[in-house]
Amino acid sequence: MSAGELEQFVVGLAQPKFRAKQIAEWLGRGAPDFSVMKNLPENLRKDLDAAARTMPVEIVKKLESSDGATTKFLLKLNDNEQIETVLMRTTYGNSVCVSSQAGCAMGCKFCASTLLGLRRNLTMNEMIAQVLVAQWVLRTNHDIKPNGDANNNDVSHIVVMGTGEPLQNMENLKGFLEYANSKLGISWRRMTISTCGIVPGINELTQWGRPVNLAISLHAPNDELRTKLMPINNKYKISDVMDAAYAHADKTGRQLMIEYILLASVNDSQEIAEELSALLAGKNVMVNIIPWNAVTEREFSAPSGNAVHRFQDILIKNKIHTRIRRERGADIGSACGQLRIK
Ligand code: SAH
Repeated sequence: MSAGELEQFVVGLAQPKFRAKQIAEWLGRGAPDFSVMKNLPENLRKDLDAAARTMPVEIVKKLESSDGATTKFLLKLNDNEQIETVLMRTTYGNSVCVSSQAGCAMGCKFCASTLLGLRRNLTMNEMIAQVLVAQWVLRTNHDIKPNGDANNNDVSHIVVMGTGEPLQNMENLKGFLEYANSKLGISWRRMTISTCGIVPGINELTQWGRPVNLAISLHAPNDELRTKLMPINNKYKISDVMDAAYAHADKTGRQLMIEYILLASVNDSQEIAEELSALLAGKNVMVNIIPWNAVTEREFSAPSGNAVHRFQDILIKNKIHTRIRRERGADIGSACGQLRIK
């Protein structure tokens, strides 16, 4: 509901208008239900409970990692579709990994999210709700370990790296990020959109011009190998994806992130590391090396620790900025999409 609709709704329940403002404040904080709205009279809370819901999502499962830093949510939507959202408390802030679709149509061979195909796009409100669910937990669950800044109980970062291909859900994605920026106070620079490389979508983001971070799921330095791993590469070749991504970086001034999953004996050799270095030479990119998270339905193996470091050392030798992505919450459902499938 818009502010006006909410007001009408409240008046319809024979309540003064100012109640709408009180309710809206609670909604903006991610209240899971009306019972927590203690500044409302009890009979109103009961009426609201009978007539409405605070969120377009409901928590089915909430898992905390043993180190207390990661919370994984399985959320149910109004039509019973399920999605995953992850809250990560880090030294630089609180980051929420948001899903953009229920399921995924992209068919990447190493990924769990696409195993059941695409169910549907998420609405803007369903994306906002994922952040609010995390926000509510941050502010109300005091068992969790604080991050580097113990006073900071706000979501500070959004990564659109959950289930789905965000650039196939462009209007809702943009609406969601606009809301996060204007209503939740999250800076554009702390938002990252990850894509498998939909060139027209990247171009649209460039035109949109907000200084958000772009991450490209590359995973292979040549078209032959990439096509085997990611069917989307049949449609958009590496050179076109990279051109579009560099144009985005030029326009926004943000450093381009390259995601590179390491799959043992598939894309982790020294030769391929050299080839990747040559592809990215001289460009302002950060290569995020992601040791593959096992997906039982998929026939790949995770690289050994040695292979990961050997690969990274070659990039470093070639003066490519690189980082190994720390696996978070491995003990609560390994790879992206696994919880939903289970
Ligand atoms: N569709 C978007 C965003 C979702 S995937 C995209 O492709 O970028 C987010 C990241 O997780 C991508 O880089 C994706 O390739 C990676 N990923 C998928 N399955 C994985 C797995 N089993 N282990 C590690 N990373 C995985």
